[in-house]
Amino acid sequence: MDIYLKKVSVTYMKNTPFEKKALDNINLHIPKGTITGIIGHTGSGKSTLIQLIAGLIHPSTGTVKIGEMDWKNKKALAELRKQVGIVFQYPEHQLFEETVEKDIAFGPSNYGFTEVERLEAVKEAMELVKLPYEKFAHRSPFELSGGQKRRVAIAGVIAFRPKILILDEPSAGLDPIGKKDIFKMITELHQKQNMTTIIVSHSMDEVANFADNLIVLNQGKVLLEGTPQKVFNRVDLLQENNLDIPEITKLIKLLNQKITPPIPLSCFSIDE
Ligand code: ADP
Repeated sequence: MDIYLKKVSVTYMKNTPFEKKALDNINLHIPKGTITGIIGHTGSGKSTLIQLIAGLIHPSTGTVKIGEMDWKNKKALAELRKQVGIVFQYPEHQLFEETVEKDIAFGPSNYGFTEVERLEAVKEAMELVKLPYEKFAHRSPFELSGGQKRRVAIAGVIAFRPKILILDEPSAGLDPIGKKDIFKMITELHQKQNMTTIIVSHSMDEVANFADNLIVLNQGKVLLEGTPQKVFNRVDLLQENNLDIPEITKLIKLLNQKITPPIPLSCFSIDE
């Protein structure tokens, strides 16, 4: 499903000494079926943006639409909830059932799936995250590796078959192999299911190699938006806006030497 944000601002703790404008007049269109990376420093507004898309918060001003539906339309709410799945940071911390199967079935149970549909959805989701049902369904999620636990948590969200999947720092805390595996899994998942996929990352090089679009947030505004190549070509704009990206000079040097991505992109990560 397409996602539209029109003139969206979010102000937290309005009319208090702690008032904070987290997003400032954002206009965005995230086309259906694409992979979009949202990148920016801590505090740039990434979490606020994905919470808006997932309907967990509402804009202070402006509109957020999923397809034709507006989150503020109460009649559309039940339908919208089924369309957008969000995987929070360290989702494995939310695993709680005694078996993998029960944990993954939790979402579909809440969305009115029958028992047969639920089993089918769990099997399908486990296959998609590459945890074969026969091998993992009856195990305790707590005895799995970090990467496997994360897959269980992702399966729990995709099991209710959302059309939009949002992942907040899906590789956080994993070792380099775990990181690589999780991104491989996400891209394969996208190829198979064609969900509109949104990945929040603080690292350009993590997502730039496979995302269709990048959105670079800076102090609550969209600084850059477009294909990785387009974003990558606007280093000047990043500089003009004094975006504090370590090694940016190195990146520009590489650009001047006409070394093409993905090599320079790895110099473009925003360390937190
Ligand atoms: P990011 O995910 O990029 O780190 P956030 O969307 O979490 O950015 O935060 C954007 C700004 O809004 C930050 O200055 C943050 O401190 C502030 N903020 C976020 N959530 C709240 C909240 N619930 N109450 C008050 N301020 C908040």
